[in-house]
Amino acid sequence: MPLSGPDDILRYDYDGLTAEFDRRFGKGEYHAGALFRSLYRRGESDPGLLPEFAANPSLAQAVRGAFQYALPREAGRSGDGETYKFILKLRDGLESESVVIPMRQYKSLCISSQVGCKMGCTFCETAQMGYLRSLDAGEIVAQVMVARHVLKEPIQNVVFMGMGEPMDNLDNVLQAVRILSDQRGLNIAQSAITVSTVGHVDGINRLARLAAQPPPHGFSRLRLAVSLNAPNDAIRSRIMPINRQWPLAALKEALRNFPLAHKDDFLFMEYVLLAGVNDAKEHALEVAEYLRDLKACVNLIPYNPRLDSPYGRPEKDGVADFYHWLMEAGQYCRIRGTKGKDSMAACGQLGNRALRRTGARSLAGETSPAVT
Ligand code: SAH
Repeated sequence: MPLSGPDDILRYDYDGLTAEFDRRFGKGEYHAGALFRSLYRRGESDPGLLPEFAANPSLAQAVRGAFQYALPREAGRSGDGETYKFILKLRDGLESESVVIPMRQYKSLCISSQVGCKMGCTFCETAQMGYLRSLDAGEIVAQVMVARHVLKEPIQNVVFMGMGEPMDNLDNVLQAVRILSDQRGLNIAQSAITVSTVGHVDGINRLARLAAQPPPHGFSRLRLAVSLNAPNDAIRSRIMPINRQWPLAALKEALRNFPLAHKDDFLFMEYVLLAGVNDAKEHALEVAEYLRDLKACVNLIPYNPRLDSPYGRPEKDGVADFYHWLMEAGQYCRIRGTKGKDSMAACGQLGNRALRRTGARSLAGETSPAVT
């Protein structure tokens, strides 16, 4: 049996698993639901240990044989203690990267949706490795499962800000959100899950249509973050190639149409401050003007230099100045901490250029422990 083949159980949402139990074993929600709850709530995947299967050991045996439960093996860890990155070895030898970030009361997990990225943002480390492939829903969910049940971290918040562009893999990202937010399982509220996009307008429009419906079938509380990173098209096109396809006017049109269901909901605009590139007072005023008629919160991120980066991070005062210029111009904003930057575990520092060089195949063939 392959390590994580088409029957990786982590790819199935609750209804999907129930349908699969019907199709394969002629059984329904009673058994499938028990397994789903046990797997996601307790990290316990053996059906043989569940009372619902006690009267039917041959069913437990058939279920064990039909699904692949193995979580990917941890292949590395780095960080500054509190904030740390962990690397998971995938079935084809490629690697996903995720970052555990302590918040006041709980922990947040920054996860990857792809291995590498196609978007080519000039300041980002992941862009340097290019695009290798998209993760499937099970591989996305596995990052949260490892954090919760192997590393025992109290993850209550998930951000798609690791490697990859979520809108370039939206079906798998949405399936993962369905699984992560299921109250019968990991129970991470949709309002605590953020999908961060480079400004992929087709993806934003698609999500807007889905956001028009409430959970559990719609995504009305899922948070959208957009990496703005520049005050105008000239600068944005220089640092983010996607802007040539969807310039700021097109992006704004999509954001204007994005439904915010709840009075507390905002559009989150990420703004990485690059010294001497996008951090002047006139830039802050342009950003405030651009966002004027949107209900947006700007998250200012001091740049974490990638390897061999031509860009630098602004001085601490430069970040504070930009914050005040925006606030004075009437634009709500926050400064985001950048823990982990010294160990390449911070935003935009994920990626393994060696994978690109070595190729996936020669790294394959590792075994991994089961969840239980
Ligand atoms: N592709 C998605 C998600 C991955 S990037 C997106 O573009 O939003 C997640 C965030 O990290 C983005 O806001 C991006 O602008 C920011 N980022 C990328 N490289 C960075 C770096 N070196 N330092 C700080 N932030 C960075």
